[in-house]
Amino acid sequence: MGTCRQLLRAVIMGSPGSGKHTLSSLIIKHFQLKKVSSGDLLRDNVLRDTEIGVLAKAFMDQGKLIPDDIMIRLAFQELKNLTQYSWLLCGFPRTLPQAEALNRVHQIHLVMNLNVPFEVIMQRLAARWIHPASGRVYNLEFSPPKVVGVDDLTGEPLIKREDDRPETLIKRLKAYEDQTKPVLEYYQKKGVLETFSGTETSNLWPYIHACLQTKLPQISQHPHEEKCL
Ligand code: AMP
Repeated sequence: MGTCRQLLRAVIMGSPGSGKHTLSSLIIKHFQLKKVSSGDLLRDNVLRDTEIGVLAKAFMDQGKLIPDDIMIRLAFQELKNLTQYSWLLCGFPRTLPQAEALNRVHQIHLVMNLNVPFEVIMQRLAARWIHPASGRVYNLEFSPPKVVGVDDLTGEPLIKREDDRPETLIKRLKAYEDQTKPVLEYYQKKGVLETFSGTETSNLWPYIHACLQTKLPQISQHPHEEKCL
């Protein structure tokens, strides 16, 4: 008889600029998880000019969170296609109602919280530029483009994300802290919260890697294995 394995349901939390996207890319590569990023889902909808995209853009440009009902609908739509896979949520849930809605549908095994100092985040985001068509992200300090202001692959101009401008940024960081405090408390009470503190993404990675390895014995690292309850 085969071993009974469960699919991993994980969440990574961290303010804008905390290194959450870089770390989640490393995680999904090493542990073969599917990533669902709320920011990417929203930006994709904005670029495609969908109904949700048009609605979301107004909130995103002002550094405000998207209303919970819209965000929950969008995230669940995506998760419906991933029932067979282990997954990592990035940027969702961001509010208590989102966490509670998620809990009604999925049991979360692990929430990784990135705790990076405010000054480090401000400095990082000030140096961030993107290629709007592809979503490629450059950072003038750690991963600059080959030619300043130009995308490496297409040669097209890079822009600042509307919500990376300093005024918007401070609002985003404050909103992030206010909205996520109850979410962190909620997961702390459930006993699934792990916090990683530091300034450099590369220093956090070994701890995150070790943590995931300790959580994985009963969890399948193979994307196609069936959930067994
Ligand atoms: P991010 O790429 O995670 O920094 O997200 C960019 C923007 O998308 C945020 O500033 C919010 O406006 C919106 N957003 C992303 N995730 C959520 C969420 N879970 N709930 C509400 N708004 C979100």
